Amino acid sequence: MSPVRLVILAILIYIGYLLIRGSRGNKKNNVHQQQDKIHSSDVLVEDPVCKRLVPKSQAHTLKDKKKDVYFCSDECRRAYEKEKK
Ligand SMILES: [Zn+2]
Repeated sequence: MSPVRLVILAILIYIGYLLIRGSRGNKKNNVHQQQDKIHSSDVLVEDPVCKRLVPKSQAHTLKDKKKDVYFCSDECRRAYEKEKK
């Protein structure tokens, strides 16, 4: 084997190594983007009692006269009901 061929072989191995590393990096980024999507699809609502932000899917709801009110817990919902009376 001539020295030139050895150099070409080394370059090819190096390019292959970069491709493998690059594709792994892309996979990681894709997973991260998917997590961001899931996160942003869940709307955050503010608890009027403790001012905490709660994902709408996990919030406790109280049907008010005009609109739905959301709470982080049943405790906050009861506190809100007490205040109203
Ligand atoms: Zn709360």
